[in-house]
Amino acid sequence: MPTTEPSRPHRARGGSFAVLDPATGEPFAEAPDQQPEELDAIVERAHTAWRGWRADPDARAAALLAAADAVERAGPDLAPLLTREQGKPLPESFAEVARAAARLRYFATLRPQTRPIVDGRPVRSEVRWRPLGPVAAIVPWNFPLQLASAKFAPALAAGNTVVLKPSPFTPLATRMLGSVLAAALPEDVLTIVTGREPLGERLASHPGFGHVTFTGSVPTGRAVARGAASSLARVTLELGGNDAAILLDDVDVEQIVDRLFWAAFRNCGQICMAVKRVYAPARLYAEVVEALAQRADQTVVGPGLQAGSQLGPVNNAPQLARVEGYAAEALATGARAAAGGHRLDRPGYFFAPTILADVSAQSPVVAQEQFGPVLPVLVYRGVEQAVEAANATGFGLGGSVWGTDLDRAEEVAERLECGTVWINHHGELSLAQPFAGAKDSGVGVAGGPWGFYGNLRPFVVHRPEET
Ligand code: NAD
Repeated sequence: MPTTEPSRPHRARGGSFAVLDPATGEPFAEAPDQQPEELDAIVERAHTAWRGWRADPDARAAALLAAADAVERAGPDLAPLLTREQGKPLPESFAEVARAAARLRYFATLRPQTRPIVDGRPVRSEVRWRPLGPVAAIVPWNFPLQLASAKFAPALAAGNTVVLKPSPFTPLATRMLGSVLAAALPEDVLTIVTGREPLGERLASHPGFGHVTFTGSVPTGRAVARGAASSLARVTLELGGNDAAILLDDVDVEQIVDRLFWAAFRNCGQICMAVKRVYAPARLYAEVVEALAQRADQTVVGPGLQAGSQLGPVNNAPQLARVEGYAAEALATGARAAAGGHRLDRPGYFFAPTILADVSAQSPVVAQEQFGPVLPVLVYRGVEQAVEAANATGFGLGGSVWGTDLDRAEEVAERLECGTVWINHHGELSLAQPFAGAKDSGVGVAGGPWGFYGNLRPFVVHRPEET
């Protein structure tokens, strides 16, 4: 069994910290370890840049469209670096770069709608929109570029400037993206800061921001909200999930198993809205477990830069330890590994894609967010029980229902307490749709026009009606 590497990105000499390659567990580069004291000057420059950036929507749109082209052109440099630090297979890194470019294009052309207020009074009232000011953005390590763009594209398009902090596990591709964008955008409109805690904490509580937008875990989200409360900045939180997939008794297992498997295991299961629990009816339970286990056993696990790898390593040592702990606890309390169940005996943070059968509903791998390549499959008796179990969590990000009768599947889907439900697939999002979690999965709305308006405040002008 390989030993676990240091549990946190560690400080290196000269104001930088080492970045590890999860496929080897070895450091391969360094990133600047910026200190919280540097933030005052950075935020002041973001304020200065805001004056020009907010003034001209046409110039903004042109700059953002040029930025999208620049990101796309930089794909061959960005994607391998992303894979090196994050672990995902190279084609998925290219897809992530493409998504970042597409998001810039989508938001570049949005304009806030000026709306009259019609209420019978003899005044002309109109709702216009104003940007919020510099925006602080903090993102995790699972989709560094995609999630960064989900923050800065709507914020910049709405006329704000942005200071963005990637995770210290994955700072490099985001820094490169920042350089690419710097060539297309005015100075200090987008600033990337990298460093270890308490940099994020100080960013979230800095008094110079009008909006603090965070993607990450629930506990850190709470800390961010507490920090932002000191300045009363607007807060958007996109937090964790524990999405259930309910298979109905008319589901065609063979037809859906591939889609279901990848909805749980893509990016090594490190997706907020991955399928994290499967509920199968008793009649189909053995077939579902067997089909998923076969799919897991066939999956090619290897370094993301190696051609043919379908599943890379877990991103970092603490996450690997967490995933391993969830699997071990379940196996020690009566679960069975129908596939996997262990780390791979090789360097790096590799864990065999794991299907757990006969898991207790109280097991942490069911009740909490595993965020890794371990999928529990649970049995249910009656749809009522499945819906109840799916909703029995503090999370409320997504969910899905799988079956042949689409109307019946939709009826069940309507009863899931979450922000997005899918039928016969799971996890696809349009750039134009709202993305918001129920319960502990988030505060505020990202995505589409909703995410755009999340970066604006209404500004109402009243004047007498002209006679
Ligand atoms: P995390 O909460 O540990 O870290 C997220 C970011 O916050 C990182 O940049 C980290 O450096 C920073 N941070 C750490 N402590 C902080 C503090 N006290 N104040 C401010 N910032 C701080 O999350 P993670 O482990 O990097 O990512 C995994 C989590 O992210 C999972 O729970 C996953 O579900 C969630 N996630 C949610 C979405 C969504 O859109 N809902 C998308 C992707 C990931």
